[in-house]
Formats: sequence, C-alpha cells, structure tokens
Amino acid sequence: MPVTVAPVVAAPAPPLDVGADPFTLGVASGDPDADGAILWTRLAPDPLAGGGMPDHDVDVAWDVARDPGFAELAASGTTVAHAGHGHSVHLEASLGPGWWHYRFRVGPWTSPVGRTRAAPPAGDEAEVRFASASCQNYQDGYYTAHADIAAQQLDFVTFLGDYIYEGGPASVDGQVVVRTHGTAEPTTLAGYRARYALYKSDPQLQAAHASCPWFVTWDDHEVENNYAGTVPSDGSDELAFAERRRQAYQAWWEHQPVRLPPPPDDPLAPFTIHRAATWGSLLRLYVLDGRQHRSDQACGDPSLSLDPACPETFDESRTMLGDEQERWLLAGLADRGGAAWTALVQQTVFGDVTLGGAVLNYDQWDGYPAQRNRIVGALDPAADTVVLTGDIHFAGIGTIRAGERGVGPPVGVELVATSISSGGRVNPDVQGVVAAIPDILDVELEHRGWILHTVTPEAWTAEYRMVETVKVPDAPMFVHATYRIDRGTNVPVIA
Ligand code: FE
Ligand code: CA
Repeated sequence: MPVTVAPVVAAPAPPLDVGADPFTLGVASGDPDADGAILWTRLAPDPLAGGGMPDHDVDVAWDVARDPGFAELAASGTTVAHAGHGHSVHLEASLGPGWWHYRFRVGPWTSPVGRTRAAPPAGDEAEVRFASASCQNYQDGYYTAHADIAAQQLDFVTFLGDYIYEGGPASVDGQVVVRTHGTAEPTTLAGYRARYALYKSDPQLQAAHASCPWFVTWDDHEVENNYAGTVPSDGSDELAFAERRRQAYQAWWEHQPVRLPPPPDDPLAPFTIHRAATWGSLLRLYVLDGRQHRSDQACGDPSLSLDPACPETFDESRTMLGDEQERWLLAGLADRGGAAWTALVQQTVFGDVTLGGAVLNYDQWDGYPAQRNRIVGALDPAADTVVLTGDIHFAGIGTIRAGERGVGPPVGVELVATSISSGGRVNPDVQGVVAAIPDILDVELEHRGWILHTVTPEAWTAEYRMVETVKVPDAPMFVHATYRIDRGTNVPVIA
C-alpha cells in the first residue's frame, strides 16, 4: 500500500448489518520490520457468544494517517475478514519512518485508533524503549500493568507467553479470584475464541495493544498447563490432544497481530512461529517457541523435588526447541548481522537454577540441559545477548556463563519479567534461598509487573516496574529496581 500519495480518499465503509459494534476486541499491531507492521482487529459484535458475525466473509475498510484524528489520510483501502478465521484481520501495512495511526471501519462503526511504527532501517542506532511481559491470568488480577505499558508510549512490547489461561471458572492454584473466566476449560476452537475474547475485552489490555506494535510468542497456557509437543499434562490421548492443540493454535493466530500464515490443517504438521526480527543496528531478536517442539518433561515432571536430577534429564536427545528451531537459532547466533545486542524472546527460565543438583522445575531449561549447553556454547560474548524470560511469575536477573556456574566466562544476561497478573507460585519467604543461587543478582517474588528496557549501543537498562496489588483495579505502580548492562560486559549491575 502506498503511504506518501496524497490526497488519499477514504475507502467507503463496506456494509454490515449486525446491530452492534463489532470492534469490541480493540485493535493491535505487531511484528514490525523495516517496511511496516501487521495491523489487526477481529469483528465480534457478540464476543463471548461465538462472535455474533454472519457466517460469511466480510469486507473491512482501513485507514492509516500520521495524526490520531485522521485529518489527512496517508493510505486507505479494504481488506477481508474471513469467517473461517473468526473474522479476524491481519493486514500487512507498508509504513514509512516514524509513528502512524490506524483504524478500521465497517457499516456505521469505526474501531478504536491504534498507534504503530515500522522498525528502523539498518544503520539506525537510536535508543529504543520496549517492554517484556508475560502471564496475564484474568482471574488472578487486574491489568494495571498494561495501563502502565500503554502510558509509557513504548516502541514495542515483547509478550513471552501465557496470554490466556485455560482453566475453568474457579482458580486452580489457590489464588484469590478477582474476576471469573465464567466458562469451563476450552478444548475447541469455539472455546478458545471465547477465552481470547474475554481477555481482549479488558480495556487496559486493549490500550497496551493500541499503544505500539507487539512481538508475541506463546507458552503452555495458550493450550494447556505444562503440555510438551503433543504430550498433554493430563495423560489423555496424544492424537486427540494434537487436534485440541491445533484448534488452540488457530485461536491464538486469530487473536494476535503476527506476521504468520494461519496454522496448517494437519494437527501433526508444525506451525512454525519462531522468527527473527531486526531493530535497526541496535537489536537482533529471536522470538522462540519452547512449547510446540519440546520433549516431554523428564521423569514425570516432579515439582520442587530436592532429589538429584533424574538420569533422563541429561539425555542428549531431549529438546526444548526441536531440531529445526535449534539449527535455525544456532545459525542466527553465528551471524547476527551487525546488531549491537542479541535478544532471545522466550518463555521459561534459561539459567541454571538447580539447587544442590536438584532440578526444582523440570518444565524450564534446567530440565533440558543438553540443548541449553549447545545454545550457551553458541553465545558469542561479543554478541551481548540478553535472554528475556517469563513463565515463573517472579522477577529476577542473572548472568549466563559458559562452563561452571559462578566461575565461567559471562556470555549473556537473563532478565525475568514477573507476571502481568498471574499469582506468584513461590513463597516470598524463600527469597534469600533463590537469591543465593550463583549468578543471580536479584529476585523479587511478591509483586506483579513488567520490565521497561531502554537500549542504546552503549548500555541496556532494565527498569522493573511493579504494581502494589492486582487484587483491586488501578493500584499504584512503583519501580522495584533498575539494572544496567554495559555493552561488552555480559554482567548486570544495579543502576
Ligand atoms: Fe504463567
Ligand atoms: Ca507457563
């Protein structure tokens, strides 16, 4: 689509007779590259009851402008919301430098306005500010952190998984429920669509999406707690689970602003979502999928066991990423294209946090040490790698070393975002035990929040922003701590 031809005439709004505003789920943008971004919406006048759209494809008009009032359009056109895709729209927009506003129109309705941008071109080293965030259980708390993300006017957000939780109406983990899922655990496309619609009905989440483009990956709860590849955690039939997973993946794709084709129809065919992104000459991002291609958790996935790691843990064939993704990542790490920093945008805790030889959590990288060793071995200290992690619902920061823990040469830094709203799973009383693990600089087990990253060619600054409580709406935010990684050190310090 052209962006500089003026004057641009607005495409007429296609007709739609549904009797209610179809833009209930907001707008979003994502996967910015140097040429533009994906612009997203989904038409759903009755979002919690199947969407409420007619059973056929629908045309949707879109507009792009510099100004939020759309006084002068830069581009306008029409795209299709496919019935088979839940009437979602993934519009590939060409965008010149700087910030843009976008909206969609159909019938008498106009969507909320989103703000987005392309990635800067190669050679650009201007400071970037972005978020890492994960784990937004709707039942556990309010999305105050998302309102804070929106208010910060960031360049982009990385979302590290657990965008939805699949549990039923009652909390499964003993957390205080502040608002309910209201429906049973989803196992079908219709069920997952309704769950995404519930989450996306939240105005603070909508505001965060509308504020800037996102890079989104998933973790387990987009399908089922702690699933691994096609192995469910509840022991049910693998083929049946693969079909459930396919439907969950489709709902994920329908609701995220991703630059990806929809998942294949074959439930056993891979749906490749790992991808690389480049932010000028400042950042090379590898968005990873640690869930779809992984081996089952070792030894029955015991939780918080203090026994020595079981022998299966060390099997060389065990994998978190799968062979194809590992080859792709190692090739990327070997040729990072001149970026100042490398970021792994991924899910579970990467660093070695074993305790006296015990694996406390077989679902994270401690349960997949052979593949982790190969990745750590491929981290060039000069690549200044930062691992962005979610999943664990507490905040942390540590050094990744090649070779022996606490002793080997530093090759990267791991920054663990706490959760947007999901309840803590580790008792804050063990703060000292966790913080005493070698190479961990700090942990904070109690609060929810996100990390604000400010990156220049010289330094990476991570501000850990937290909310006093998510049990009431709009509680105050505070900064827990700010850390800095000076380029060339691979070691974090308190800023
Ligand atoms: Fe989570
Ligand atoms: Ca998780």
